[in-house]
Parts: sequence; C-alpha cells; structure tokens
Amino acid sequence: MKAAVLHEVNKPLVIEDVSLQKPGPREVLIRTTVAGLCHSDLHFMEGLYPHPLPAVLGHESAGVVEQVGSDVTYVKPGDHVVTCLSVFCGTCDNCSTGRPVLAPTPR
Ligand SMILES: [Zn+2]
Ligand SMILES: [Zn+2]
Repeated sequence: MKAAVLHEVNKPLVIEDVSLQKPGPREVLIRTTVAGLCHSDLHFMEGLYPHPLPAVLGHESAGVVEQVGSDVTYVKPGDHVVTCLSVFCGTCDNCSTGRPVLAPTPR
C-alpha cells in the first residue's frame, strides 16, 4: 500500500509503498479510505514529539476492518470504523453524542 512516510524531521513526507505485518493479538488491520493529519502529526514532523523514524503519520482515519488479532472481539472483518486515540466505550450517552473522551467506563 502507499503511505506518506516521515523519514526526517523538517523534511517533506515521502509517498511510497510500504508493507504491513499481520495484526498482533490486540491489533486491527484497517483498509484506510481517508486519513487526516492533525496538529499532533505536525509536532512529529517538526521534531517536537521525538519518535523513531521512519514513521507513517495519520492516526485519525476511517476505513474497513480487514483482519483482527486473536484477542480482538470489539470489531470484525468488514466493519466500517474510525480510529481514535481516546479510550471510550462506544455505547454511553457521551459516546453517542460525539463526546467519547467523557465516557465513564472505557473498555
Ligand atoms: Zn490527532
Ligand atoms: Zn461511552
């Protein structure tokens, strides 16, 4: 698949082919259809959040689940999903009204 790869801070991202491993026990492989780059990604690009390189940025995305790890029960292949760094339950009033960061019982 193609990805925008950060090889060096303060240098342009490089669009190139990357390969992926099978998902680990608690990981999900998603066929990404769209991904945004937010200000956190800009911090990685500017070296303000030191991180091992090369790295693929874009932690806010949407797509379809392709594979799940052996311990994953929340989603299955074919599910349409969005990614989010916040831990949330997905079922409470806060989650269903767009405020997942306020979920009282993350899982
Ligand atoms: Zn972000
Ligand atoms: Zn919730």
